[in-house]
Amino acid sequence: MKNKYPGYIMKYLRQREGLDENDTSMDNELNKLSPNEVFTEVCIWNGLMGNYDETIKGWIKSIYKIDLDNMEQENNDENICECSKDGKCNHFLSDSNLECFGADEEKANCMCHLELD
Ligand SMILES: [Zn+2]
Ligand SMILES: [Zn+2]
Repeated sequence: MKNKYPGYIMKYLRQREGLDENDTSMDNELNKLSPNEVFTEVCIWNGLMGNYDETIKGWIKSIYKIDLDNMEQENNDENICECSKDGKCNHFLSDSNLECFGADEEKANCMCHLELD
């Protein structure tokens, strides 16, 4: 399965969970983290303690005029299929492929997966 984030980010996230950097056993769960959650984990793993995740997003907003918190909100609302929200697998379409990191039980509850099978 394709991961939602590049390999080096996945390695940070795995190590934050106390896993070996190449241990894929929790990738299903890690793929469900939002960009904000991933950013927080990556900051902490790289030694930026405290609220540096929020601080850095504030700097970017001040300097580049890009509000990353708004961007996450918009991306989520636009891309995640309503039917998958009911089923809780929270998939979205990218390049007309169904990107889903849901658990098997969640997929079984979601109309989109039922229709594809
Ligand atoms: Zn769907
Ligand atoms: Zn799904």
